[in-house]
Amino acid sequence: MTDTRPLAGAERAGALRDEAREIAEGLVREHGVQPRLVVVVATEDESTAWYVRSITRAAVKAGIACDTVRLPADAEPAAIRARLAELSADPGVHGVILQTPLPPGASAADLAGAIAPDKDVDGANPLSLGRLAAGLPAFAPATAEAVVSLLDAHGVALTGRGVAVVGRSTVVGKPLAHLLLDRDATVTVCHSRTADLAAVTRSADIVVAAAGRAGLITAAHLAPGAVVVDVGTNPTDDGGLTGDVDAESVSGTAAALSPVPGGVGPVTTALLLQHTALAARRAVTAHQ
Ligand code: NAP
Repeated sequence: MTDTRPLAGAERAGALRDEAREIAEGLVREHGVQPRLVVVVATEDESTAWYVRSITRAAVKAGIACDTVRLPADAEPAAIRARLAELSADPGVHGVILQTPLPPGASAADLAGAIAPDKDVDGANPLSLGRLAAGLPAFAPATAEAVVSLLDAHGVALTGRGVAVVGRSTVVGKPLAHLLLDRDATVTVCHSRTADLAAVTRSADIVVAAAGRAGLITAAHLAPGAVVVDVGTNPTDDGGLTGDVDAESVSGTAAALSPVPGGVGPVTTALLLQHTALAARRAVTAHQ
């Protein structure tokens, strides 16, 4: 039995925030432009409010202005779409995020189509996903990119490795599959109808759990020495967060496991800021 190495996200997140800050400071110094991110929220959900506050705090540290646009929790989809279009047309805004959950009847994928692709820093516009799938430049959803970034930060090779992605959502599983294919991994995407999940994940070198089911992945799902990335963020009774991986069960079987919290999460937030800084730099150079 070997020790399971923690794939912590703090160091990579710090490096990404430093990169964002360097770009932001350069833009302020040379062009008088501060990168600006706007988060659109149409929910009273407390965990969303906490997440938005954490983005705002991280943005300030990275020299990026971050505003929240609050719409009522019963806002009509047309009102949300109009606001996103307005922000997309505003030259003073460089990144736009539409936060979920949304009011009943509103579709994130549909509404995100109103975010201009060059400001779509969380890769939510279906055009961004299409471009990603076609191998064209686009912002990837930050969480999906964070998985690859975290693996890179810890020196986990992807070329030729078998990766099982558990979850096929548009925000995590599907874009992640494209990012991994671009890195020459052999990818299997699993979902709730996968006939024998454990058999698929046991044959993988790397398992990414993104199902939103606490404790779904146990030692029985892993080949000895597998690397495991836990994307899941499931609320616990005591107000904390727990992942999709049963950390105690996989300890000693997994070679490495990303912690929840402290793994994918901080890298995701830092990537949103890095994307915003890159979008601002592109906007400034396009107008020169
Ligand atoms: P989602 O839209 O609910 O998708 C969950 C996916 O998991 C679906 O494809 C579902 O299959 C699959 N699934 C559910 N139960 C399963 C099971 N028992 N076996 C196999 N597959 C199963 O969730 P999401 O938005 O992708 O988020 C996934 C998790 O990541 C959540 O915990 C979320 O909070 C977390 N998250 C974390 C971050 C971060 O920054 N750390 C960011 C975003 C999301 P079907 O398609 O068949 O229903």
